[in-house]
Amino acid sequence: MKHLHSGKVRDLYETPDGLLLMVASDRISAFDYVLEPGIPDKGEILTRLSLWWFEQLKDVVPNHVVSSDVPAEFAGRGVLCRRLRMVPVECVARGYLTGSGLVDYRREGVVSGVRLPEGLTDGSRLPEPIFTPSSKAPMGEHDEPMTYEEVAAEVGEDVAERLRRITLDVYSRGAEIALERGIILADTKIELGWDADGVLTLGDEVLTPDSSRFWPLDQWEPGRSQPSFDKQFVRDWLLSPESGWDRSSGEAPPPLPDEIVERTRSRYVEAYERLTGERFRG
Ligand code: ATP
Ligand code: MG
Repeated sequence: MKHLHSGKVRDLYETPDGLLLMVASDRISAFDYVLEPGIPDKGEILTRLSLWWFEQLKDVVPNHVVSSDVPAEFAGRGVLCRRLRMVPVECVARGYLTGSGLVDYRREGVVSGVRLPEGLTDGSRLPEPIFTPSSKAPMGEHDEPMTYEEVAAEVGEDVAERLRRITLDVYSRGAEIALERGIILADTKIELGWDADGVLTLGDEVLTPDSSRFWPLDQWEPGRSQPSFDKQFVRDWLLSPESGWDRSSGEAPPPLPDEIVERTRSRYVEAYERLTGERFRG
């Protein structure tokens, strides 16, 4: 198997018959650093959640999954996929305002070129979900927001419109399913690519806590940062005095304490179990 790429979280290989083997590790990143130690089972949780979502979304958009039957050393964490020619745009949909969207909104009232009404705050629900694409930055650099017009200039008007449609459809379907389980899907990022027949296809991972913000509905309260089903404990701890880490120092963060690792693992397991309705280890 030929090693193609290792990102912060995933490793990509090419199989002898030309398929892509995507393996999710237990690595966790925050503030653009890969942290120590990993979160036990995170790779498997995210892989299984992604596979579950691909299945839920198959009427919305075709996907790259071929099989989860992979060599034993990757069992549970690996997926065989069709190799796509990726569209060079991170396709983001937001139904709620937070994160980088909130920062842009506060600065100019606009997110990726979409003007929003006044008076919104952290965690506000948007009047309707919006498409807020960003560039795919090379490793180590930040993704930059793109306007719809910039996307159209890069991939053509027709493709831009299809990216927007698919992204909003994936968001809406995902949000509807999550809401039935008491979870708000605040926003999500998908990646699309062209398959060998020229069909626009969903690749990468989908609707995982690494690519999306999931909030417990019963604790949603605009005007503050929302509790979420992801690495929130990690971020909070890193920014707290206990960690002793100064984000602006340029130094790598300290190792995570066992308690933060364990609570973060529970959070990922809970997201998986609530969304899919299945036990992670039955
Ligand atoms: P990082 O997430 O660390 O910033 P990254 O996004 O490059 O970097 P990963 O997310 O770990 O790294 O790896 C997934 C990579 O594989 C992405 O570059 C993604 O665009 C690409 N990819 C996903 N699915 C496919 C596919 N079916 N065919 C080709 N490339 C794919
Ligand atoms: Mg990625």
